[in-house]
Amino acid sequence: MTTETLDIKITKAAQSRLAQTDFSQLVFGHTFTDHMLVADYADGEWKNFEIVPYGEIGLSPAISSLHYGQAFFEGLKAYKHQDGQVSVFRPDKNAARFNKSAQRLCMPELPEEMFIQSIAALVDVERNWIPTAENHALYIRPFMFATDPFLGVVPSKTYKFMILTCPVGPYFTKPLRVKFETKFTRAAEGGFGYAKAAGNYAGAMLPTRRAVEEGFDQMIWTDAKEHLYAEEMGAANVMFFIDGTLVTPSTRDTILDGVTRDTVIAMAKDWGIPVEERRISIAEIVEGAKNGKLTDAFGAGTAATIAPVGSLNYEGEEYPLSDPATREFSNRVFNTLNDIRYGRTEDTHDWNYMV
Ligand SMILES: *Cc1c(COP(=O)(O)O)cnc(C)c1O
Repeated sequence: MTTETLDIKITKAAQSRLAQTDFSQLVFGHTFTDHMLVADYADGEWKNFEIVPYGEIGLSPAISSLHYGQAFFEGLKAYKHQDGQVSVFRPDKNAARFNKSAQRLCMPELPEEMFIQSIAALVDVERNWIPTAENHALYIRPFMFATDPFLGVVPSKTYKFMILTCPVGPYFTKPLRVKFETKFTRAAEGGFGYAKAAGNYAGAMLPTRRAVEEGFDQMIWTDAKEHLYAEEMGAANVMFFIDGTLVTPSTRDTILDGVTRDTVIAMAKDWGIPVEERRISIAEIVEGAKNGKLTDAFGAGTAATIAPVGSLNYEGEEYPLSDPATREFSNRVFNTLNDIRYGRTEDTHDWNYMV
């Protein structure tokens, strides 16, 4: 592979907002750093890579992303190590998934080198914005959207690729009360649930609001056909520890192939723990909750990291799980992940991309 250095023009903000930012009061996705990255796709190529002050952008009201949803995103994080070094966690995985989403939505791919160099350049400019406190990081949000000012239902010929960055703290601060969703569907076979397409999240908002009104923090999505098998938890993958085995739904076109999911599976294998990627029925999970063989359940995602499930609900029946503080597997995963990301232990899989 040839690695050409991407030419990125940098225009610095006249004044940094860093000094006025309270890092102890961060709400996820509300605080943006001083800069953002913008690039254009036109005439079959990516060009005009620029880092500019964060701010509004002017666009035609006819752009097809607003009307037909040709838009998708990624999410990853940069971490500050004790010695001041900065790493981004597994950006090659996000680059690959970025292009899977692009393909499914008839949008242009972005070469991996351009994706990673764009992230590295922006993170480098914003190094001072990366929080140092435990469980804090710089959230990186790359995204692409269609910009043809034309109301025809056909793929756009022009696009923008952008990256925003936000200093963030923990996403969830308590164990989650979760219900199995048996009415609404997030993704169906043949659809685009495996893509980080904007429309998937719009479709999830009403079911999520209903679940919150019923007193739940999240739902576990189930298969579209029968609503009998677990698929994902909100916008995270879901993992269970049943009778000494890590069990998680196998990836397919209804499931987002999470980087955190892949990382947890790799760690379990390193530790000699049996892993099963397969369909998991709600019946099996409920049975495990009843007989005590379900010793751990959690969501896994970049934003949520490892989010323990405190209690499960199926068709109105509540199944409380063990105290998350006492759970061996998810606590070991959580702590080891943090140690790798903050550079406190050896990164044997080369997951940290140093900036
Ligand atoms: C982003 C996302 C995940 C988690 O993926 P990571 O790569 O671990 O962040 C899982 N499910 C859905 C639906 C997602 O959008």
